[in-house]
Amino acid sequence: MPRPTTIAIDLDALSLNAAATGSLAGNSRILASVKANAYGHGMIRCSQKLSEIVDGFAVAFCEEAVALREAGIDLPMLLLEGPFDRCDVDAIHEHGLMMTLHSHHQIDLLEQSCHPLTAPIWIKIDSGMHRLGFCPAEAPQIEKRLRELGAQSITLISHYADGEHPHSALTQEQQKVWQRLKNTTLSQTSMANSAGVINGLDTRSNWVRPGIMLYGAAHVATETPISLEPVMSFNSEVMALREITAGESVGYGGRWRATRDSLIATIPAGYGDGYPRTAIDGTPVWLQGRRFPLVGRVSMDMITVDVTDFSDCQVGAPVELWGKHLAVNEVAEYAATIGYELLTRMTGRAPMNFVP
Ligand SMILES: *Cc1c(COP(=O)(O)O)cnc(C)c1O
Repeated sequence: MPRPTTIAIDLDALSLNAAATGSLAGNSRILASVKANAYGHGMIRCSQKLSEIVDGFAVAFCEEAVALREAGIDLPMLLLEGPFDRCDVDAIHEHGLMMTLHSHHQIDLLEQSCHPLTAPIWIKIDSGMHRLGFCPAEAPQIEKRLRELGAQSITLISHYADGEHPHSALTQEQQKVWQRLKNTTLSQTSMANSAGVINGLDTRSNWVRPGIMLYGAAHVATETPISLEPVMSFNSEVMALREITAGESVGYGGRWRATRDSLIATIPAGYGDGYPRTAIDGTPVWLQGRRFPLVGRVSMDMITVDVTDFSDCQVGAPVELWGKHLAVNEVAEYAATIGYELLTRMTGRAPMNFVP
């Protein structure tokens, strides 16, 4: 008998979210970010589903794109970090991939290779994130060098450091830099990630690059007229119930101590499956229609929940660790992280089921 801990991936919700993204993106084409195994949702299955709706895919590096090509996906595909070495340049050519170029070192690699620059080239511009890319003033000179190398299609790409906060000084400054650049280039442009799309920051560029919103886990401001549905549900069931008396502790290190006689439900999912060990006492767990507090440290294989206020709780009662009833971002807050990290670092131990 398999233990009842599973991950359900709702592919219809993924489609709905992609369609909603499209309606916010105006005339921009959509490059769906499916890096890191589609944020832990299963890159191949999700990309196959998204192929019906989006215009292309963004992945971090070559191996991710090659896996998609080998699964038969032939839409445009962008390597957000571009080639790391000559082998990558060969693979990019062989598989018809689009590459981001963020450094002179990468352009040197292209110059040394014998491949014609047939696929579109994306030039990474550092508009304020200060992680990757050329400074904006360098753009014309890089564009010129690439045209001389034979590039036919060039897109300038940049990234928001704080897109969740459209009015922050950082976002405002990036907007200014980006707008100035757009006014002076003949190349195509791409700026907005999910936060950029949701907050209406630069949807006039040729491409948007949503990721987290497709999976229904964006931090959406309440006034935003968009509904996104969580795609991943991390499910389990109550495996055991025990009564403890006031003063007794639960779990490793005795972190949580009962202040009243309590009923404790044990759930067979832990950090070995991807549930965050940093979750504090009081982290919400959805159990048969209500939320109950996690109590005691998260173990590798189990967590414990205080269900004292649910006296007829039964072994086998359905549990959702996050999903449709409990946002992953909410759990993440109790674990001092973000939904992106929880989704992306599922360990592969609990079986993943795709619905439908
Ligand atoms: C991951 C990534 C995205 C997608 O970001 P979300 O916040 O998930 O929408 C877009 N652009 C770049 C450069 C990225 O690295």
